Amino acid sequence: MIKLESVNKWYGDYHALADISESVGKGEVVVVCGPSGSGKSTMIRTLNRLEPIQSGCIQIDGQDIYAKEVNVDGLRSRIGFVFQQFNLFPHLTVLQNCTLAPMRLLKKSRAEARDTALALLDRVGLAHKAEAYPAQLSGGQQQRVAIARALAMNPPVMLFDEPTSALDPEMVGEVLQAMKGLAKDGMTMVCVTHEMGFAREVADRVIFMDQGKVLERAKPESFFRQPEHPRAQRFLSDIR
Ligand code: ATP
Ligand code: MG
Repeated sequence: MIKLESVNKWYGDYHALADISESVGKGEVVVVCGPSGSGKSTMIRTLNRLEPIQSGCIQIDGQDIYAKEVNVDGLRSRIGFVFQQFNLFPHLTVLQNCTLAPMRLLKKSRAEARDTALALLDRVGLAHKAEAYPAQLSGGQQQRVAIARALAMNPPVMLFDEPTSALDPEMVGEVLQAMKGLAKDGMTMVCVTHEMGFAREVADRVIFMDQGKVLERAKPESFFRQPEHPRAQRFLSDIR
């Protein structure tokens, strides 16, 4: 489903991604962790072409996403991306946030977009907030709307970059719950997160990065019991 082959990226002379090769299968949930500055965001951003890469290849569903002929807007509309900051459109209602892109980009009718959006809002527990504006919602609610909005494009893959780290602690659970539901329904997911409970419960695989390299990839059971790499051991003891 997702395949990175020898991906290298530099910011100036800083080697931000050093020869990354990974693949993520359909329906797989991969959690990416590692210290600050290790390249997690850079890596996940390359997956919808938000970051130019200097060498290597990234394929999604067999398509080389960095090929010249790729329509970048089309690509991004097919890959759900949920950031730390929810970035909802403040002047649109929750429902309008979720119907805008499907109407514009997928050419869905208003009624069809609305039905899909309401079903997705229901799935994240927010159907009753459809007519509210983002500013009237809590952080956790806004992030769940952001998830519903991404899902409205019916993406084959969802990417998450620390979706809970800007939230007050009591709102983290509801967002993780929405993500767990997606994982159980078979969504292919790559999640950068420090929520190790989530990783333990739903990840099929954990990837540990440091200094632009993948130092370890493991099943969560073995990663959390006894990571092999000393850097990963230190990271886990620091965050515990
Ligand atoms: P965090 O856990 O703090 O979010 P991260 O693992 O997501 O960290 P990245 O944001 O991918 O780390 O950054 C990796 C490295 O690349 C860091 O050293 C960072 O300073 C550098 N970097 C990131 N973005 C840029 C940029 N636009 N220009 C120059 N350097 C950058
Ligand atoms: Mg980051």
